[in-house]
Amino acid sequence: MLELRNVDTYYGNIQALDGVSLTVGEGEIICLIGANGAGKSTTLMSISGIVPPRNGEIRFEGVDITHLDPDRIFAMGIAQVPEGRRIFPYLTVQENLDMGALLRKDGDGVRADLDYIFDLFPILKERRRQPGGTLSGGEQQMLAISRALMARPRLLLLDEPSLGLAPLLVQTIFEVIGQINRENETTIFLVEQNANMALKVAGRGYVMETGRITLADTTEKLLENENVRRAYLGV
Ligand code: ATP
Repeated sequence: MLELRNVDTYYGNIQALDGVSLTVGEGEIICLIGANGAGKSTTLMSISGIVPPRNGEIRFEGVDITHLDPDRIFAMGIAQVPEGRRIFPYLTVQENLDMGALLRKDGDGVRADLDYIFDLFPILKERRRQPGGTLSGGEQQMLAISRALMARPRLLLLDEPSLGLAPLLVQTIFEVIGQINRENETTIFLVEQNANMALKVAGRGYVMETGRITLADTTEKLLENENVRRAYLGV
C-alpha cells in the first residue's frame, strides 16, 4: 500500500532522514519505534507531504506522492494524527469531527461513521457540544484520532498517540487502535516511544536511530531481540 524508497529529508541543512526505506501493506499495523529525535515524526511528515523528501520516492497504492501537496495526499486517503493532539480548541467536539469529514459527500456514510466513533469513545458523545479545548488530554487524543477517522482514511498515520496519557488511558487508546484496524479496515502506521505497547499492537515494526532504519522485523522477533529489549523495553 505504501512504500518509501531511500528517502532523505532535510530541515534546511540538517538531515533528519537518511535513506529510509520501508513498506506498509494493506490491512497491517506497522510501528516505528526509536528514541527522541530519531526522525520518527519526520518520517510521518514526509509521507503526508508536510516536509517533503529531498531525495528518494514515496508511493501510495502505486502512485508517486513524493512531491504532492499535503491536501492532495489527504484526499487520496492518508490522514495524520500529529503529535500533541492538535484539535481546534474553540470548536465543539461535534464541529471538530465535522471538520474531519469536510471533503466527504456521502452523508449516510458520515452519519454511520459518527455513530461508530461515538461507540468507540462514548465520552465524546457526552461532550459533543463542549469546546474541544475544555476536554482532558486523553479526551483530546480521542478527538484527534476520531477527527482523522471521520475522513475515512485508508491509511492512518498516528504520531505518539500515548504521549502524556495516564496508564489506563494508554491501554484504552491501544485497544482502540487494534479495533479500528480490525473493524474499520484501516491500515495503521504508528510512531511511538512506548515501544512496549506499540510492539504488542503492531504486526511488524521498524527501529529508527539518527535518521536511519536499523532494524525491521515482525514484532514477535523484535520483542525477543536483545538490543531492542535493552534499548527500548528497559529489560
Ligand atoms: P520525537 O519523539 O522527539 O518527536 P522524532 O523521532 O519524532 O522525535 P523528529 O522530530 O523527526 O524525531 O526529529 C528528527 C531530527 O530532526 C532531530 O534531530 C530534530 O532535532 C530535527 N528537527 C525536527 N524538526 C525540525 C525543525 N523544524 N527544524 C530543524 N530541525 C528539526
